[in-house]
Amino acid sequence: MTEATPADPEVSEGPAGAVRTLRRITAEAAAGLDWTAENLLEATLRHGLFGKAAVVSSFGAESAVLLHMVSELKPDTPVLFLDTGKHFGETLRYRERLVETLGLSDVRSLSPDPATLAREDADGLLFARDADRCCHLRKVLPLERALAPFDAWITGRKRHQGTTRNALPTVEFDRRHSKVNPLAHWTAEAVERYLTRHDLPFHPLAAEGYRSIGCMTCTARTTPAQDARAGRWPGSAKTECGIHARPRTTADSPP
Ligand code: SF4
Repeated sequence: MTEATPADPEVSEGPAGAVRTLRRITAEAAAGLDWTAENLLEATLRHGLFGKAAVVSSFGAESAVLLHMVSELKPDTPVLFLDTGKHFGETLRYRERLVETLGLSDVRSLSPDPATLAREDADGLLFARDADRCCHLRKVLPLERALAPFDAWITGRKRHQGTTRNALPTVEFDRRHSKVNPLAHWTAEAVERYLTRHDLPFHPLAAEGYRSIGCMTCTARTTPAQDARAGRWPGSAKTECGIHARPRTTADSPP
């Protein structure tokens, strides 16, 4: 693997430079070099491949894999958690357990703006009237604010999670940030094997049939025959919260 440093001009040029860097490492992968989730993460976190990066985590059913890899590489990586005020208590306790177990030292809880909530969601039921608006206030806007000082963010999204994600690239670029999805190609079985091999705690709701876990008000159990994300906003056409909307360009990085 060729290392890129924060001073690498290809990286410091922002998304355009990152695209060129990505093409370079893709060519290296094609030449036989091994690009795994771990070494893509290493290049991103330790060598600044995409500039200054943060992890965004829901502390959901599969989150421990990415967080464990991050903790092994750089435990002081900023980890952004969208604290919508609507999470399951189990998720909040699981977050605390993982933070302690993994030694993550910079987990940041992002809250919605209280004045905006008071104006638009005084009764706390906006999720039932207009889920898109609720997600915008509780997730999209707080994340936009928190990501302002960063060049890139890392997510744990995977293609297996549902039809809306089955073409998920390993790296994509939105209007302002590079977005790195090092586990894009991982299967549910690979996730389970990793959690078991590293003796990582499972989200307590996973054993109760919750395979994709978001806000309590908008999450349901799924059957094994359903996509994991079928349990999100059940009974509606909504499939994503909006934080992943509008990628500008995409590029598939190392396999
Ligand atoms: S998932 Fe539901 S409760 Fe959570 S922010 Fe979106 S609409 Fe609101």
